[in-house]
Amino acid sequence: MAAYNYVDHKYDVVVVGAGGAGLRATLGMAEQGLRTACITKVFPTRSHTVAAQGGIAASLQNMGPDHWHWHLYDTVKGSDWLGDTDAMEYLAREAPAAVYELEHYGVPFSRTEEGKIYQRPFGGHMQNFGDGPPVQRTCAAADRTGHAILHTLYGQSLKHHAQFFIEYFAVDLIMEEDGTCTGVVAWNLDDGTIHRFSAKMVVLATGGYGRSYFSATSAHTCTGDGGGMVARAGLPLQDMEFVQFHPTGIYGAGCLITEGARGEGGYLVNSEGERFMERYAPSAKDLASRDVVSRCMTMEIREGRGVGKNKDHIFLHLDHLDPAVLHERLPGISESARIFAGVDLTKEPIPVLPTVHYNMGGVPTNYWGEALDPTGSDPDRVTPGLMAVGEAGCASVHGANRLGSNSLIDLVVFGRAAAIRAGEIVDPKSAVPALNKAACDKIMDRFDRLRHASGSTPTAVIRERMQRAMQEDAAVFRTQESLESGCRRISQIWGELKDVKVFDRSMIWNSDLVETLELENLMANAITTVYSAEARKESRGAHAREDFSARDDVNWRKHTLAHLSPDGKVTLTYRPVHTEPQIKPEDGGIDPAKIAPKARVY
Ligand SMILES: Cc1cc2nc3c(=O)[nH]c(=O)nc-3n(C[C@H](O)[C@H](O)[C@H](O)COP(=O)(O)OP(=O)(O)OC[C@H]3O[C@@H](n4cnc5c(N)ncnc54)[C@H](O)[C@@H]3O)c2cc1C
Repeated sequence: MAAYNYVDHKYDVVVVGAGGAGLRATLGMAEQGLRTACITKVFPTRSHTVAAQGGIAASLQNMGPDHWHWHLYDTVKGSDWLGDTDAMEYLAREAPAAVYELEHYGVPFSRTEEGKIYQRPFGGHMQNFGDGPPVQRTCAAADRTGHAILHTLYGQSLKHHAQFFIEYFAVDLIMEEDGTCTGVVAWNLDDGTIHRFSAKMVVLATGGYGRSYFSATSAHTCTGDGGGMVARAGLPLQDMEFVQFHPTGIYGAGCLITEGARGEGGYLVNSEGERFMERYAPSAKDLASRDVVSRCMTMEIREGRGVGKNKDHIFLHLDHLDPAVLHERLPGISESARIFAGVDLTKEPIPVLPTVHYNMGGVPTNYWGEALDPTGSDPDRVTPGLMAVGEAGCASVHGANRLGSNSLIDLVVFGRAAAIRAGEIVDPKSAVPALNKAACDKIMDRFDRLRHASGSTPTAVIRERMQRAMQEDAAVFRTQESLESGCRRISQIWGELKDVKVFDRSMIWNSDLVETLELENLMANAITTVYSAEARKESRGAHAREDFSARDDVNWRKHTLAHLSPDGKVTLTYRPVHTEPQIKPEDGGIDPAKIAPKARVY
């Protein structure tokens, strides 16, 4: 093995990731006096959270009636009854306090006339247990909500003296024989040193893996590094088959036009000028949940009613709205439409297409963010020393389909919950676990192998093959044939990783090596996604099979767990869904009958 320049650190807590989830966890840990480090491969305020536009859901009731029970019901229904009820209950109940906390930290929310936080309608969020019209629940800072939240949380984390390791790439978790996590190894991209962090708790907040697909709204840095690290540690990934396609990515560019655009009154039309969503979802129309709208758009295109020369996309109209409203509420997307589609949205429709947007699956956790390593007899067994929050985790509050504006609230509610839990179980006075040098050497062996990889296929070539296979075979609609093809192709591409060629051997700003490490991580996510999807013989949420078009609660209301072996074999097991709320109706909880499974219509 090459000689590396090591720097060793000891912390109570190491958070990997500085998006909304990582920063909220970091801030909470530091606030409680835990010595906390936050490692991030990009500058904190460049994390993908910065791109979140539409807003953050909480039943504040600033703009009409709402109740956290309604938010819980909508989330359960949105999840297509796959979410864990205790976690969803925690989310909906804690959401208002978490938003007020953000307000007090300094997030510049848009305001109503009376000076309250402005809230807009969003897909799948309805009044009165789905029986009423859309509810105004999504709190927004114009269409730059993520930007506002991220900058505020970064400032707050610095105020509480968390230590940041910026432009450090976390390579792998340090694991003990008994399955405890005791730290993480990271590479300082700027000076080439290798940093071995020992910690009592490691929190993965590394975001999603949208970039395993060809067309995604997510940043190029969304490469599922946390999922890759967890899979290599021998731990499972949960519900990976559920990949959300957002209805309105800009055709060709993939950039997002927020659902807030439809929340403000935008609507979709086909080549006949028809508002087709009225046909599919008579009450929620264009504000049905994302999986539903994406499927309807795909069906219109397949039946020959797409717009454009190739009849391969759909139009989103905002040109009927008051330009003053567009300017005030949606300034960012006005700019995106102009730059990426060449469209003046006050005059013309925007060409859009369903585009990969969010990963419901990830590291299984309980609602405190503790990572799970389930066994048959203990489906809720905790992995000591490891937590996961945000899009990297799977609590699971989004089940088979996430509602818009429920991710930002997930980041802050569970970032905060992880900090509360760490405050209980991490003793600042206890000794930091000793550095496991043997485990670190193994991590560096893999690093070395990739750094010196001298096969014949460049990283970018393998990556594009993976992205095309995922896009073609694990898309909005799936069949046994497409999924078997996906498994075959991704397994073959897994084999091609052995033949990867890295051109740059240096240790300083070696983006070739970074992308190769990221490719291995993307592949761990991609392969568990296709195998989990092939096995699930039903349609639920974002997993829509043409050959098994109904939801099957008898056989499939359960979480998939995918284990990945070093040679690329995926083994699937299952774990039960938590179906019971924790709070009794007499203590203010929801009536369980309200959230019992039923047909999902909007
Ligand atoms: C365009 C867009 C718009 C969206 N709009 C909304 C919205 O309006 N409302 C809503 O609720 N949701 C929205 N979402 C979803 C939501 O923004 C994301 O799910 C969420 O921001 C993810 O946050 P995160 O903290 O989990 O991860 P991210 O914000 O993706 O951050 C990941 C962090 O991990 C770090 N990291 C990753 N790998 C490594 C590594 N190997 N080593 C070191 N650091 C690493 C990165 O540097 C980064 O700091 C949107 C998503 C997109 C893509």
